Amino acid sequence: MTIDPSSAGLGTKAVHAGQKPDPSTGAIMTPVFLTSTYVQSAPGEHLGYEYGRVSNPTRDALEGNLAALEGARHGICFASGVAAIDALIRFLDPGDHVVSSNDLYGGTYRLFRETFERFGYRFSFVDMTDLDRVIEALTDRTKMLWIETPTNPLLRITDIAAVSEIAHKTDILVAVDNTFASPYLQRPLELGADVSMHSTTKYLSGHSDVIGGVICTNNDELAESLRFEIKNSGAVPGPLDCFLVLRGTKTLHLRMERHCSNAARIAEYLADHPKVGTVYYPGFSDHPGHEIASRQMDDFGGVVSFVLDDDSMDAANRIMSSTSIFALAESLGGVESLIGHPATMTHASIPADVRRAVGLPGSLIRLSVGIEDGNDLIADLEQALG
Ligand code: PLP
Repeated sequence: MTIDPSSAGLGTKAVHAGQKPDPSTGAIMTPVFLTSTYVQSAPGEHLGYEYGRVSNPTRDALEGNLAALEGARHGICFASGVAAIDALIRFLDPGDHVVSSNDLYGGTYRLFRETFERFGYRFSFVDMTDLDRVIEALTDRTKMLWIETPTNPLLRITDIAAVSEIAHKTDILVAVDNTFASPYLQRPLELGADVSMHSTTKYLSGHSDVIGGVICTNNDELAESLRFEIKNSGAVPGPLDCFLVLRGTKTLHLRMERHCSNAARIAEYLADHPKVGTVYYPGFSDHPGHEIASRQMDDFGGVVSFVLDDDSMDAANRIMSSTSIFALAESLGGVESLIGHPATMTHASIPADVRRAVGLPGSLIRLSVGIEDGNDLIADLEQALG
């Protein structure tokens, strides 16, 4: 089926974009091309594919699909989300400066501080919800703004359009880690960003069975450079992994609806619970980023974080060890609900004093709300909180 990207809805693109029935068999599903090389009829004469690290038809289909979902001309897939971030930073030169959200995935922070700073790249971590802080952090070597919104794990919201306007007064690239929202809820390129990046491990694949990453962009020079980079570094996803993500995106719109409605119910439930303190959820009208989130997102996502009223680690540990549907595990965005402790799990690589400085409570609990029946999820939290 040929999709007209200008008119098709997101659900139609999710199911069809980038894919067509296999010409040799009619198979409706894109085959998993498990091949490392492609036969040439004479040296240099081939059907467009030469070597598996450089390109693969299953990967091409996934890249077309993800680019369409983000409204991008280019989608470049990587072996993981952090491999995608790594390639993007290497588009810059040592000595260049990046202004990053200060509340962000721990692995991204670790990559910036412990790998790239060693090679002379410079990073400032600021509260991107405050545009004055962003402007103050800019230097004449600033080449990129790295935005997570909603942030992991505090669900802070950055105004992508406003930050892009600041960046584009000069030649600064704006890259958004769109993992928490997924293109179903937020399309950063439409808001003025240059890059929308995902850990496809999360909502895009949606079934906790694969690790992957993608960069979507309309910047031709950047896309060409990333394709060259991935050919050199070899951080490519395997064909089976590409198939799994491609199968996942077919139900993205359906899954996201349920993630969002379950998360909204759970956030309300937690906010009313006498044993619960602050609940972090951008869908609340008193959340500081609510107005911006309502403007730039189509719903508020499937992650809810909270602290207990008794802010002790013992109490938080008891909750995390006593849920039965919410599984205690890292990651998010899968169909099954997860409960996690950022300070010792996903964000352990951020030093405790830095976590404190950005307002990340040591006892914060993060929920990745799955697509199970909402009543069962609430009953599970009820018994754990009891
Ligand atoms: N960005 C965000 C917001 C994440 O939560 C994660 C992983 O948890 C990543 C990037 C890294 O992705 P991956 O684990 O696929 O390398």
